[in-house]
Amino acid sequence: MPKGIWVFVEQAEGKVRKISLEILSQGRKIADQTGEPLAAVIAGDGIAGLAQEAAGYGADQVFLLNSPQLAQYTTGAYTSALAKLIQEKEPQAFLLGHTAVGKDLAPRLAQRLGVGLASDVIDIEVDPEKFLLYKRPVYTGSAYSFVEIVSRPSLATVRAKSFPVAEPDPARQAEVIEAAVTIDPEDLKVIVKDVAYLVTSRPALTEADFVISGGRGMKGKENFALLEELADVVGGAVGASRAAVDSGWIDNQFQVGQTGSIVAPTLYIACGISGAIQHIAGMGASKVIIAVNKDPEAPIFNVADYGIVGDLFEVVPLLTEEFKKLVN
Ligand code: FAD
Repeated sequence: MPKGIWVFVEQAEGKVRKISLEILSQGRKIADQTGEPLAAVIAGDGIAGLAQEAAGYGADQVFLLNSPQLAQYTTGAYTSALAKLIQEKEPQAFLLGHTAVGKDLAPRLAQRLGVGLASDVIDIEVDPEKFLLYKRPVYTGSAYSFVEIVSRPSLATVRAKSFPVAEPDPARQAEVIEAAVTIDPEDLKVIVKDVAYLVTSRPALTEADFVISGGRGMKGKENFALLEELADVVGGAVGASRAAVDSGWIDNQFQVGQTGSIVAPTLYIACGISGAIQHIAGMGASKVIIAVNKDPEAPIFNVADYGIVGDLFEVVPLLTEEFKKLVN
């Protein structure tokens, strides 16, 4: 009989990603509603110290997949180790972040386990008959579908910022289980020797509370310094439209949209971005949207809470000055 709501806790360099805390927090609520135990699964090398953090955010059990072979994420090794653990313990549900890792790992696991997967989930309903119903955007965010998965475990990737992070209880205890790590040699197709991290003081685009993005209206790579200055005043991240990325003005890891990152910050400022549906698919869920565009007919104003019709090269420095006054 399958048992348990499981959350894959993503970590990098020994630090748990915020998305995993969001899912653990929501997982606790789902566990309480369904009467299932909540388990965190942490994979890596030397990750035992993270078990207490997972317990504090609501895990009843913590499964540790601790091995040098899992030190860096690779599709094959993680699929192999996790699939074996899941096949042995048979959880009811396995929830991952809709991150680069989650988007890579979840479909592989679904295929390996022969189960269904709901991806890019933004809400989870507990249904007395259907167990979990996953709400996910379809047609570039213009409609929603509710997905029921009949196979077990019910697999889903959850979009960042869909759920708030609960207040942790540092005294909370969980059963910590050192799980056996067995990786089939044929799954080790790639071995990562080294990883170079981008050194930045800015938050990750998908985790930032404040995102300021630039589009084709930025007119050149050098002008992104304007957005960086404003982002740094408020501790935010810089994003971009695909047009800006395709022009070579900013690296594609900063692209927001259907084929880029999906963000939902408290405040999103779109500068010189027209508001194509593929861009809105990536930022439409932001709490407050400010658009700066010199064309009053630009579609971005249809989704903006506040619209500034004007030249971004005049407006952005003024915004920066005003934000400086607010934070000082
Ligand atoms: P434009 O549409 O050219 O808009 C530039 C805007 O800047 C205009 O509205 C203009 O009025 C304004 N402007 C110009 N100068 C100034 C100034 N000085 N001050 C103020 N405003 C000014 N796009 C994404 O962004 N993300 C995606 O993930 C994505 N995925 C895609 C996937 C597919 C399959 C396809 C087909 C397209 C995708 N696109 C994506 C591209 C998308 O359709 C648009 O082409 C793109 O978003 C346009 O970028 P933009 O708004 O920066 O450029």
